[in-house]
Amino acid sequence: MYPKLKPESQMMTYGYKPSLSEGAIKCPIFQTSTFVFATAEEGKAFFELAYGHRDQQDGEEMGLIYSRINNPDLEILENRLALWDDAAACAVFESGMAAITTVLLEFLKPGDYVLISSPLYGGTDHFIKKVLPKFGINAISFTVGQSKESILAQIDALGVSDKIALVYAETPANPTNDLIDIAMCKDLAEHYSSPNKSVYVAIDNTYMGPLWQHPLAHGADLVLYSATKYIGGHSDVIAGACLGNEALMARVRAMRTFLGNMASPNTAWLLLRSLETLKLRMDAQALNAEHVAAFLNTHPKVEKVYYLGNITAKNTRVYAIKQKQCISNGAMISFDIKGGENEAFRFLNALQLIKLAVSLGSTESLAEHPATMTHVDVEPALKQQLSISEKMVRLSVGVEHYTDIITDIAQALENI
Ligand SMILES: *Cc1c(COP(=O)(O)O)cnc(C)c1O
Repeated sequence: MYPKLKPESQMMTYGYKPSLSEGAIKCPIFQTSTFVFATAEEGKAFFELAYGHRDQQDGEEMGLIYSRINNPDLEILENRLALWDDAAACAVFESGMAAITTVLLEFLKPGDYVLISSPLYGGTDHFIKKVLPKFGINAISFTVGQSKESILAQIDALGVSDKIALVYAETPANPTNDLIDIAMCKDLAEHYSSPNKSVYVAIDNTYMGPLWQHPLAHGADLVLYSATKYIGGHSDVIAGACLGNEALMARVRAMRTFLGNMASPNTAWLLLRSLETLKLRMDAQALNAEHVAAFLNTHPKVEKVYYLGNITAKNTRVYAIKQKQCISNGAMISFDIKGGENEAFRFLNALQLIKLAVSLGSTESLAEHPATMTHVDVEPALKQQLSISEKMVRLSVGVEHYTDIITDIAQALENI
């Protein structure tokens, strides 16, 4: 038997038949809103499947109807993305926020509580705390390092144990690289599930995915991405994705159809191109990050480095989580500069090769100031608890030669 191919070997060809596109080696952009049915009977059959009015027969394929429901670029992209997480199904969206909000709207209803890790991505946090309450949905947060027993006790004390409907977490936490145990999230979800109510776990895997952490393998039911980050990887497209089993993804896809926030054919095509080099880019970024972290770890003007590779103390809970969940140390590094906002800003303003911008996971290295930029909305007390201080800088390490990245950091630190 032919050995099973690795995902990176399949990113150029999987799911695409050149014979259906005049022999074109690459999947064209199917910039079309609708698709012609061969017969009325065929159109009827496609709609029966699309609306779930009957089950698919053996060998029957779902046909193309209308680009809000399905489109070849989106379907091929979804099939390829599913390979990395070994997921049964995937749906792609026009942004990471579109993927996240669609999942929250599909799996929560008035009266429900969503159990969230803290801190969450700013946009997600805003949607959960400012928008969902308008629909009678509220949130309870737990923090990194909080034990399962303590979370259970907290919810018990609030008297809402029967109202927990979804567990939503982000790990590693941004910008501190703190880790949350995905299996613990699953335990919590099971604790609140009953015969007539399934509580699911959704994990935002943007910081590590899709290569370096596979939440579905650790008990998550849904994995979410801002595909704007590593998956897109070139800072030229906004996109999102959600993956999981067939049954849950049928629900996510149906909600996407009615919200109408699917990715466009053009966005999907850009991501297909990005996926061909995903492994090469992410490998190079992780290797560069190792060198950059080693440089920062011993620099006299650097007080503390937040990097997964620095979690080395065995017999700690966080080390055990890292060993279990993280395949790599990633390419995100935060560090505290000795001083405060003044010193951090002088460093950021002196960078030449590294660009001063938010976002992450792209080919170019980026630096930003979480306290006044990505995390400006986090309440002061929580910021303090999470160590998101004025002296912290966050780096997303790119694919440049690592000596050039380090030289730029060194000269900018000299400027302080
Ligand atoms: C960027 C980001 C998002 C939002 O994604 P968009 O593509 O910008 O909509 C969500 N979660 C995390 C962790 C992110 O970094």
